[in-house]
Amino acid sequence: MAVFCTSSRPFHRHGLHLGMLLLLTSAATAQADWKAGTASVDITPEKPVRLSGYGSRTSPHEGVAMPLYAKALALTWADEAPTVMLTVDNCGVPAEMRAQVLARVKQAGWSIADERFSLHSSHTHCAPMLPGVLPFLFGQDLSQEEAAAVREYGALLVTKMAEVVISALNAQAPAEVAWGVGKVSFALNRRLPTPTGFSNAPNFNGPVDHALPVLRVRSPDGTVRAVLTSYACHCTTLSINKTHPDWAGWAQKELEFRFPGAVALTAIGCGADQNPYPRRELPHAKLHGCSLAAAAAKVIGSEMKPLSGPVTCSSREIMLPYDTLPDEAGWQARTQDKHKWTAMHARHFLGMIQRGEKPPSALPYSVQVWAFGESLLVINLPGEVVVDYGLRFKREFDPARTWVNAYTNDVPCYIPSQRVWEEGGYEAAGAMIYYGRPARFATGIEEIIARAVAALVPQTFKATKVEPGTRMPSKSGLFAPQNSSAPVE
Ligand SMILES: [Zn+2]
Repeated sequence: MAVFCTSSRPFHRHGLHLGMLLLLTSAATAQADWKAGTASVDITPEKPVRLSGYGSRTSPHEGVAMPLYAKALALTWADEAPTVMLTVDNCGVPAEMRAQVLARVKQAGWSIADERFSLHSSHTHCAPMLPGVLPFLFGQDLSQEEAAAVREYGALLVTKMAEVVISALNAQAPAEVAWGVGKVSFALNRRLPTPTGFSNAPNFNGPVDHALPVLRVRSPDGTVRAVLTSYACHCTTLSINKTHPDWAGWAQKELEFRFPGAVALTAIGCGADQNPYPRRELPHAKLHGCSLAAAAAKVIGSEMKPLSGPVTCSSREIMLPYDTLPDEAGWQARTQDKHKWTAMHARHFLGMIQRGEKPPSALPYSVQVWAFGESLLVINLPGEVVVDYGLRFKREFDPARTWVNAYTNDVPCYIPSQRVWEEGGYEAAGAMIYYGRPARFATGIEEIIARAVAALVPQTFKATKVEPGTRMPSKSGLFAPQNSSAPVE
């Protein structure tokens, strides 16, 4: 393929005739113009800091079970501006920190438009807490010392994230880029219906999305330089009080072992109601990561679809309305709640009202859509997005060309589908307390999000012609069990 990587218009210059052009056109137009760069940086905390994700922890972290990384992949088509993907071993990097990273990158001379930059949090629950994310997780304020350590780590992380993005941009060189989809099955729906609600346990009849989209970047000589995967599953095999990137980190380590010199990056799909099983023991995280890496390696070793440009990037900010909020007396009453998290949450919003401030009535939410020519549609959604969204977008747009990431660009809270909202439970409402949001969402946010995404998706991905008798993916997804109808209330 080397001959196709040096110019966007090799045929005209070399005078190839039309027959050869037709034979070569697909690979040539897809591959002639890519440049790619990768970089990786260790972001393991060097001082004790509280880890995020589990409210049951009571002290700063007790060591390093496995180091944490931030990794960047910069892709440039022809003479376009670059697009950058940044993956971070963290429970959730907030939009404010992402904006700081972009500002630093601009200071370094790279002008990356907001809509051409995606930041994917892995959602590991064994990485440092960051300012502003899950502020009420522990049900009480951190000590001054602990809060200072969280701020200090956050500032260091911004510096390192900016550095790794700049390094990837500077490292760009001619490349071939292709993608494909594999399958891995360790994620299971975690909302098991019980007579009193939902318990956090495997629900073998709940919807899942076991698709494993894989992006492969190779040098013109065929050496694999980067592997980006995405999987719809919580990164919560482990709950230790030591740093660990969980299955996503093991997937990266195994892929980098299999492809020496490559940088492996992991994004998370719509896995907010999906957990890895089995879980809780260190070998389980290795098992899941290595099974993902094996599935990705299988895709990489088979024929993949060339990625083409131009890369059209767009984003849109919408407002997701909250349900009716309590009045002052309502907040007052809740401050006496026996559940310390509910009481802390109520004290916060009562304080706002008593200072004459108004609790927010809606959450700002930015959806991002990338179209790689006509070859691939990528939808990036902030927050803990439940599986229904990924399955829906792959039904509504061309299922063979659609890739959906969640936990991207911000992690403000869970994003329930209408089905999950109506069913209720942790992902629908309960988790809003820990995220410091004033109430659950109002009914109807799924349609608000779906309309915003559809408005950004180019027509070419919508115009899938369905022949009579063609079987479309089921509501529960390509790889879901056949009996995966929605659990009842
Ligand atoms: Zn989560």
